[in-house]
Order: sequence, then structure tokens, then C-alpha cells
Amino acid sequence: MTTTTLITGANKGLGRQAAQQLVAAGHIVYVGARDAGRGREAAAAVGGRYVPLDVTSDESVRAAAKQIDAEIGHLDVLVNNAGIAGTGFRPAGEITADDMQVLYATNVFGVVRVTQAFLPLLERGAAPVIVNVSSGMGSFAVTTDPSRFESTLVGLAYPSSKAALNMVTTMYAKAYPEMRINAVDPGYTATDLNGHRGTQTVQEGARVIVAMAQLTADGPTGTFSDAAGPLGW
Ligand code: NAP
Repeated sequence: MTTTTLITGANKGLGRQAAQQLVAAGHIVYVGARDAGRGREAAAAVGGRYVPLDVTSDESVRAAAKQIDAEIGHLDVLVNNAGIAGTGFRPAGEITADDMQVLYATNVFGVVRVTQAFLPLLERGAAPVIVNVSSGMGSFAVTTDPSRFESTLVGLAYPSSKAALNMVTTMYAKAYPEMRINAVDPGYTATDLNGHRGTQTVQEGARVIVAMAQLTADGPTGTFSDAAGPLGW
């Protein structure tokens, strides 16, 4: 049976590239996007199907689950890719609790909202897989390693939201041992998220997302990795 995959925030950047690569690998890919025009354009360009999806809206996420349920009846792979940098790396002392709320609403609560809505569809799949697109900036190990570029950056909201996402990932992995649920770090990639300052191409960045989306039932779960292999939490 053809693998059915949903990627959130797939109208551009890493999500769009991962969608293109997974279509090439034979998946039916639902391109989740909150803007219909951009979502439809991306779906047509990569050979996927558009599904309206704003990860911050209960109503939108419920409707997306209903659409995929009606069209396919299950989901094999969920890629929680939608993310924002928001206030990003402004001085820590300037970051307000409201700034944090905005980042967490997408990067953490959005992932929980989408995952919870799609768990019933994933449970109907043969070998369910969830890939959470995290960041080296969410890793205590990486951000405290002086040899890593990430250790030179100070940001309150984005890094802590990705650290929370990492824990969300390991807890889901423990709660659903029959699923492969992993976090990945695409690496510093040129996208709108960082004003295209990233040093990798989207093709390079999407590699680990695509690899972990193709895990089989005997693959690892509760892990964090980049394209080079396992990463410290
Ligand atoms: P991007 O080009 O800015 O793409 C982000 C995507 O998320 C866009 O499609 C955006 O949609 C979508 N999105 C944002 N808020 C959303 C919402 N509420 N509902 C649905 N979709 C939403 O950035 P990217 O670099 O590809 O980022 C993808 C993921 O990789 C993020 O989780 C990011 O944190 C992670 N990451 C990126 C890097 C990097 O260096 N680029 C490094 C590590 C991790 P709109 O077009 O509508 O805004």
C-alpha cells in the first residue's frame, strides 16, 4: 500500500523540499499550509495534495484530520515541520512572556495539537512514523559544546521551544512504543526562517527529515539526530 504522509508547513523551505523528496520516494504527500494559494501552488509543484492546516487552530487541524480520514482512512507518516523563529535571537532581557507564548504556540503547542488530532489515523497505519523537526538550538548538549556554532548564539524563545519539543518527542515515543517517533535537526539551512543566512541548501537540510520519515517498524524511536547521526539532547 502507498505510504501516506502529512507535512505541516510544507509550502516553502524544508517542508516543501521534504515533500518533493518523499513524493519522489513514492509517498502520497499531503502538503499542509495555512495559506490556500501558496499551499495549492506548492502541492502542484511537488506532486502532492494540498490540505489547509494552521497548526495554531483547533478547527483547522480538526478539519485537516477529517479530510485525510475521508480521502485515505489512515496516516502513515506525520512530519511536524511548521515552525517559526519569531523574536528569535533578540537580547534575552527584552523577551517577554508574550513573546515566548507566540513561539510556543507554533513550535510546541502546534505539534501537540496536530499530533493529538492525527494519532487515531496513525494508529490505523501499519508502521506509524512521526518526525518532529527540532533544532540543534534546542539541545543542551549542542548549545554547551564550544566546538559547535550553536553554542555562540543566545536566544530565549526559539531554543527553549525546541528543547520543549525534544521532551515532547521522547514522551510521545515512550507513550506509543508501537510508533517510530523521533526528533531531527536539519542543520543551519538557507530559508526564510533565517533570512537565507543558513549555510546549507534545503536539499541538504531535508535529508535527515526524509530519512527519518522512511523508517520501518524496526527503526529507532525516541532519538534525536542530524544528517551525520545521533545528537546529544
Ligand atoms: P520556513 O521556510 O520559514 O518555513 C516554515 C514553514 O512553517 C512555512 O511553510 C510556514 O508557513 C509554516 N508555518 C509557520 N507557522 C505556521 C502555522 N501556524 N501553521 C502552519 N504552518 C506554519 O522555515 P524552515 O527553515 O523551512 O523551517 C522548517 C522547520 O525547520 C522549522 O520547524 C524550523 O524551526 C526548523 N529548523 C530550521 C533550521 C534552518 O536553519 N532553516 C534549522 C533547524 C531547524 P507560512 O509560509 O504560511 O509562514
